Amino acid sequence: MNRQLQGNGKWCSGCAIFLHESEFWRCAAKPDGLQPRCKRCQRAAQRARANTASTKQKRREWMNANLERVRRSAREWARRNPDKAAKWRMENTDKFRAAEVKSRKILRDELSDSYIKRLLSKNGGGLPNLPHSLVEAKRVQLQIHRFIRSLRNDNNQ
Ligand SMILES: [Zn+2]
Repeated sequence: MNRQLQGNGKWCSGCAIFLHESEFWRCAAKPDGLQPRCKRCQRAAQRARANTASTKQKRREWMNANLERVRRSAREWARRNPDKAAKWRMENTDKFRAAEVKSRKILRDELSDSYIKRLLSKNGGGLPNLPHSLVEAKRVQLQIHRFIRSLRNDNNQ
């Protein structure tokens, strides 16, 4: 099959259909100046790549590493789309609870700012003007407690 340009079109190496050149993205590196696969095939390949296991794993790792950011943007989305958010929670009760529990655990394990702020405002009302130095002080206190607890656990084993 000739894949070079013939008149105003060429064969797509993906779907093997003869298509007009406007159906292909430009690619200066190729002899005919066009991508070997048509726009539709390239889009499909991109979508497939976006959902491979390794990409999903990378995305998950990035989300865990940027949990505060992810949570913030999820909250913003939910605020902008209250109906959709309520619908999603209704349809995914288990997922929603599991995600809450999991993200709370990670925030607790990492002694994140949001976890410490929540601890410091037990009533849940939040302390918007809490100085960062106090958050840091509380973090050090928690680290000391955890350290002592780990020593105790070592002795008990
Ligand atoms: Zn194609």
